[in-house]
Amino acid sequence: MSATIIDGKAFAAKVRAQVAEHVARLKEENGITPGLAVVLVGEDPASQVYVRSKGKQTVEVGMNSYEHKLEADTSEADLLALIARLNNDPAVHGILVQLPLPGHLNSDLVINSIDPAKDVDGFHISNVGLLGTGQKSMVPCTPLGCLMMLRDHHGSLSGMNAVVVGRSNIVGKPMAQLLLGDSCTVTIAHSRTKDLGAVCRGADILVAAVGRPEMIPGDWVKPGATVIDVGINRIQHPENPEKTKLVGDVDYASCAEVAGAITPVPGGVGPMTIACLLANTLTACCRANGLAEPEGLTA
Ligand code: NDP
Repeated sequence: MSATIIDGKAFAAKVRAQVAEHVARLKEENGITPGLAVVLVGEDPASQVYVRSKGKQTVEVGMNSYEHKLEADTSEADLLALIARLNNDPAVHGILVQLPLPGHLNSDLVINSIDPAKDVDGFHISNVGLLGTGQKSMVPCTPLGCLMMLRDHHGSLSGMNAVVVGRSNIVGKPMAQLLLGDSCTVTIAHSRTKDLGAVCRGADILVAAVGRPEMIPGDWVKPGATVIDVGINRIQHPENPEKTKLVGDVDYASCAEVAGAITPVPGGVGPMTIACLLANTLTACCRANGLAEPEGLTA
């Protein structure tokens, strides 16, 4: 068997087009332009790339982008004061603080100082609680992107066995909550799970969010299962040691032989993450203005 490739790049382009269309309508009919503020502290090169890309895509869908770049030694008080200003700014509908923060800043404190209604990353403790109790919340972007692709591929997920490998607060746990919300029977596996291969082989939907290059082999995949590979790992290129390449957490070649459908790396989950950030900003803007939310772009 050779798996259907779930094309996250094309799907993300579709989501961005839907967001852009809705934004244009909001401007024309309501005179409102959604605004996303991104706060970057320090000069971590990977974070700088992400922030640039987020800013560019925000503008491309017609939203306002506000970038706040702060020195690496910015005090917690100054950062909290900026977030308080953004919380009170009606032109800002979404606030994202780029993680990781420099070590002297308390990430939990900073994230929990964001107005939950503007918390487009969905990391605020209130949004975590709302998601866990099945209430309307802001949903973390990466798992939301995975859910959208799964719904698009399968229609209903009801009754399917889902295994999520990884229990981080930003991917594994919210992914499991979302799958449970769609009536899957969910197992969360982690580094202490016994016989991980047997656990994975029970999955109709297998989500890998581990951070270990090509860790999941094809013989852990149930024939016909859908494999969602969240991992982004840079490894030395096998044919050219001077180059690197990106791989996921699953061994793509062997898994694609067995799976019914699979997301590639790159071009799978990755592009969906920023698309969902834009979708969340639009959702936050609609909620803030008492307007109907965009269809199909929320959990
Ligand atoms: P974390 O390091 O926070 O969590 C990794 C999880 O994997 C932990 O729960 C850990 O278990 C589990 N784990 C580690 N080793 C094993 C093992 N041998 N067997 C089973 N479970 C194991 O990572 P993140 O959740 O932040 O990210 C996961 C991956 O997803 C990374 O590759 C990251 O780059 C990628 N990512 C991609 C995004 C995208 O946009 N596509 C966005 C965010 C992340 P334990 O808790 O027991 O330690």
